[in-house]
Amino acid sequence: MRLAPPKKYFDLDFLLPGFESVSEVRKRATDLANTLRHLARKVTQEAPEPCSKAWFDIVRTHAMRLRLANCLRGTRRCGRVLCPLCQREFRRWMVGQILEQFAPSNGPIFFVTLIPTQRKLPPDRLSELRPAHLKDALRKQLVRGGLRNARVVGRIDISFNENTRREWSPHWQPHLHLIVCGCSEAQLRFAFKAAYRADISCPRPVRIHRIDGKSDLVRVISYVFRPYFDRRLSYVNAHRGVRTLSCGLKIPQLRELTRALSHFPIIPGFTFMQGLRRQGGKLVTTVAVRDYHELISRGQRSDFQ
Ligand SMILES: [Zn+2]
Repeated sequence: MRLAPPKKYFDLDFLLPGFESVSEVRKRATDLANTLRHLARKVTQEAPEPCSKAWFDIVRTHAMRLRLANCLRGTRRCGRVLCPLCQREFRRWMVGQILEQFAPSNGPIFFVTLIPTQRKLPPDRLSELRPAHLKDALRKQLVRGGLRNARVVGRIDISFNENTRREWSPHWQPHLHLIVCGCSEAQLRFAFKAAYRADISCPRPVRIHRIDGKSDLVRVISYVFRPYFDRRLSYVNAHRGVRTLSCGLKIPQLRELTRALSHFPIIPGFTFMQGLRRQGGKLVTTVAVRDYHELISRGQRSDFQ
């Protein structure tokens, strides 16, 4: 995967003070490579049967470690979901491209999080995750909800969710973070309300936030395409009720994540697009965008004037 660096005005390095530096990302990639080496050695000591689950663990762990080593040396980009270096490059590129496509946009832009509670997976079954099924389901929801012409770009995220009071079992929860343009909040709620059901571990499966200006959009895009996966700990705060704390994955979870996700490329892998597509090193709009003056005459305003 070769992606051209963004123009300065659309570059996270320039737009977001404190954005992760190259040295931070290299350190994270080195730490991950060391963890993978440790994991592979540990599993090798167990002398697994060829073609068993543990044996595939070793193969995939080694393969991911070699890909990371190549990326760290700069000899070859791996373009994998788990690689911090490729993810940083992709995130910078994506922010630049989305800003170019959405900034002159008319009408509101929304940040949407969708949590399909029926697709949660127990520990040790993350390999059953099918990103393509999640994306197909989302595509159908958008079409049925009358949002075929909305521009949508986003990513599948996964968290390992735990509850300190053991009210529900720990599980992997896939969810979708989307940036949507070309529709109203009411249309979004209508499109998603039937498909996403609340349960005890997730009281709000559909979250919609209207993006307020360019700096908010930059923060949201950066969050949507962040390069790591979390463990989310749900606990009760005496003053503020149920809260969620994001923290790092534990070794068994990292091992499972590596086994399940190391073969996925960033594009198309976990990335979702509607009304946009990648054409060479650029993102291009594939649906007609309504005319600015037509919207102004209807009394709608642009968020990015
Ligand atoms: Zn890489």
